[in-house]
Amino acid sequence: MDKKTIFSLIDENESGLKEMAFDLWAHPEISHEEYRSSKLQKDYLAARGFTIREVLNNPTSFIAEFGSGRPILGITGEYDALPKLSQKVSSCQEPLTSPDDAGHGCGHNLLGTGGVGAVCAVKECMEKEGLAGTLRYYGCAAEETLAGKPLMAKEGVFDDLDACISWHPSFLNVLWGCDFMAMNSMKFRFKGTPSHAAAAPEAGRSALDAVELMNVGANYLREHVVDAVRIHYAITNGGGLPNTVPADAEVWYYIRAPKRQDVRDTAARLIKVAKGAALMTETDMSYELLAGCYNVLPNRAIGNAMYENMCAAGSPGFGEEEFSFAAEFAAKLSPEAKRSVMETYFAPPEAAKMILCNEVLKNFDDGKLMCGSTDVGDVSYIAPFAQMTAACWPVGIASHTWMASACTGSSIGVKAMLFAAKSMAATVYDLFTKPELLAEARAEFEQATGGEAYCSPFDE
Ligand SMILES: [Zn+2]
Repeated sequence: MDKKTIFSLIDENESGLKEMAFDLWAHPEISHEEYRSSKLQKDYLAARGFTIREVLNNPTSFIAEFGSGRPILGITGEYDALPKLSQKVSSCQEPLTSPDDAGHGCGHNLLGTGGVGAVCAVKECMEKEGLAGTLRYYGCAAEETLAGKPLMAKEGVFDDLDACISWHPSFLNVLWGCDFMAMNSMKFRFKGTPSHAAAAPEAGRSALDAVELMNVGANYLREHVVDAVRIHYAITNGGGLPNTVPADAEVWYYIRAPKRQDVRDTAARLIKVAKGAALMTETDMSYELLAGCYNVLPNRAIGNAMYENMCAAGSPGFGEEEFSFAAEFAAKLSPEAKRSVMETYFAPPEAAKMILCNEVLKNFDDGKLMCGSTDVGDVSYIAPFAQMTAACWPVGIASHTWMASACTGSSIGVKAMLFAAKSMAATVYDLFTKPELLAEARAEFEQATGGEAYCSPFDE
């Protein structure tokens, strides 16, 4: 099937996809609470002939499947929103409901719906051409807390994939070639002995002392870890009252590093620091891994195919309406804020001159390391994986902002989403019909991972 025909399959579903994207946007749900959002997608896919499988350890995740046998190809989608980013489709900051409510400031309403659109188009190709194989859409909950996909991976749901792709809303249309930081999110809890702080301090053992000593230890640890490691913490329970020796205290740590192994090593040493703090203060320590993820391994063979399909799809096709809406935001963006966002994404200087990106850029971030983290990294260490970004908001706007929330509910977001859906559908079609591409992707994957098996951070 030629690519234009595949693209037209997305266009035919435009109104349904638009409706889904706007519906998710208008009913934002944060991580682990995406019951309505996941149901909306499940019902849509079930009505189109996909078999729905639940994910046992993650009730708001699911898998929609069509076909049988090999190859097994997947697209991952997300639909969780972010707290306190409620915003109208407006260039003035104005919450849609209340400032405390959630909003789609990372565009996951578009991310998930773009994936749904792509698999529906590929399914039609498979039926028309009698293509063999299995097609899957992974409805992935809780990306924002980085717990969703590692929990799914713990259950082995990605293990038999031959390849997987995805996309993410951003401000440029480009193949995403960069790596991201692996991460652990951990809480350390200390239990001491309460006592009157003035009358009988000798009888008390302070859990807060333990937290403070742990933080001192962690700050000394920084000098002796690999350069790129980042350790951040917040005291989430400091004890409460000064006149009672605190019996309970808690500190929340993030550890980020360029490779999963560096996170594992640093976490193991941080646990020793926590044990030391407990020993010094005669308190009891326990810890919990809230989330953990791998860094990202982009597959260049699939990425090259994806880039060609992005070029074939052309552009999001923004018109006057989108450019004038984008100009309203551009007028409010300070040059410093724009420069900082461009640097974070390694964007070339010519991109900074744009207000809204309506073309496909050549990759510029291959081999670079992004400072953030994403749980799609876990999938990239289980099967060959590539992803792209599409311009869902004006150039220089950061994700996780009210400005991004405003645009992901606008025609800018939807047009970019349809462009991403076309690029992804054509790429999965290539993977179904070109065994040599799949073989090349697999060989690259084996070489990059050295055959080392994936282990979910929850099983480490
Ligand atoms: Zn996101």
